[in-house]
Amino acid sequence: MTWAAREHHRFEAAGKPFVYLVPSAAIFELDQTADRVLRALALRPATREELRGTDLPGGTDLPGGTVPDIDAALAELARVQAIGELHVPAPVTQKIIPLAPFPLTTMVLNVTNQCNLSCEYCYEYGEDKIVDTENGKQPKFMSEETARESVDFMLRESGDNQVAHVTFFGGETLLNFPVLKKTIQYARQRGAELGKDVDFSLTTNATLLKPDVIEFLADERVGVTISIDGPKEVQDKFRVFQNGTGSYDLIAPKIKELLKRHRSRPISARVTITSGMMDVKRIFQHLTEDIGFWEVGFAPVTTSPNRKHALSDAGYDEMLGQFTALAYEFLEASVQNRHHGFSNVKETLEELHKGVSKAFPCGAGLGLLGVATDGDVALCHRFAGSDSHRLGTVRDGIDRDAQRTFLESHHIADKTDCSKCWARPLCSGGCYHEAHTRYGDTQRPNLHYCDWIRGWTDVCLKIYGELAVRNPAFLAQFDDEPVKEPVS
Ligand code: SF4
Ligand code: SF4
Repeated sequence: MTWAAREHHRFEAAGKPFVYLVPSAAIFELDQTADRVLRALALRPATREELRGTDLPGGTDLPGGTVPDIDAALAELARVQAIGELHVPAPVTQKIIPLAPFPLTTMVLNVTNQCNLSCEYCYEYGEDKIVDTENGKQPKFMSEETARESVDFMLRESGDNQVAHVTFFGGETLLNFPVLKKTIQYARQRGAELGKDVDFSLTTNATLLKPDVIEFLADERVGVTISIDGPKEVQDKFRVFQNGTGSYDLIAPKIKELLKRHRSRPISARVTITSGMMDVKRIFQHLTEDIGFWEVGFAPVTTSPNRKHALSDAGYDEMLGQFTALAYEFLEASVQNRHHGFSNVKETLEELHKGVSKAFPCGAGLGLLGVATDGDVALCHRFAGSDSHRLGTVRDGIDRDAQRTFLESHHIADKTDCSKCWARPLCSGGCYHEAHTRYGDTQRPNLHYCDWIRGWTDVCLKIYGELAVRNPAFLAQFDDEPVKEPVS
């Protein structure tokens, strides 16, 4: 019998070899013989007899193993499907489309498409926008009635889920605070009547965090994410008012007030990385130590490549270097059971721990939908209001045919560029909005950032392996947590 390696990614952590098995998204620590056998088979298929010999493919630097050791390694590697018989085809990704109707877990409600800031890189207002929020057909603010209809829609579509998640988004969300407030009251009341809990969160630029707003958010236990880019000189580079004035001096004290008063839920910062503004460690330190955020997440700017703030290939490499340094800081804190707020690494560790293997890059169009100010339902908040990405309305419900057509045409099985990529269980081609902005097509995989995705996934696998060896209890925290859908 001739053995061949199946699709995998080998890595080392804490001085030990590990393997990430792509079809199953499982992670295993290897003993020396299993590592030697797998490395040999990764170079070329071989028989058991060849593997026992000294002329193993892969060279003599590989440590040897006894005959029983090699037989045991082959049996174990075959059991976990790290290897298979050469002539038995490896399993291919099945194109399974979830049967509708499946429950809606998160509704992102764009309560306004207007903003009081004028950030040059913003996907909603800049040159890359897909919805005309100034002169288009969408109202600038969601009405109270549409917000109520949206809540009814959410509760109806949440199926048997006990908890419905509502995220308020904009524009600047707090420009429509009166409707947001009434929506929360209405949703709590309707949820209670139906025996469901409704969880609320919002994203804001923090400019309108007045004392009464802070009181309300704290009293109602609303999860808050603040869009902020870092210290004054970084924040004020792009996050400016229409007259060009920076926003840092206005928002910093407001955020501190919020953090002082709102203690029931962790408050996070969300940073947009642009070219020339990627001193990740310094930004992280400022936001956690000087401002006091519990968690900070970073995302590269979504933009077409010719904008001056777009990340180049070298920019992605630099970002990876910065992320790696911060991820190892996260590791050392986690080994000592100290909190570290770098949320990018924590979210990826959680997905790795749970063996997440995605047929679609995110929940958009599936368990997550965005609602535009007029009640049109779209893939997610970034497409809300776009006729070409419409999936129904809150009044008429989800257009199941449109939803199915979308899912049929966006499955990972059809992304041939991704079919040989070991990072596809987590990436699955990447964000549809990014693809739309880059290539004008949500179906296209985001091939411009593959090196970054694979590099970052490799770093997170190494951190995972280190934690598995040095503090496995840290990873156990993910056992019972449902995977959350990040909204950015
Ligand atoms: S987009 Fe690139 S990194 Fe992502 S799955 Fe496809 S090939 Fe891999
Ligand atoms: S990853 Fe992209 S497509 Fe998916 S929900 Fe986020 S912004 Fe929308």
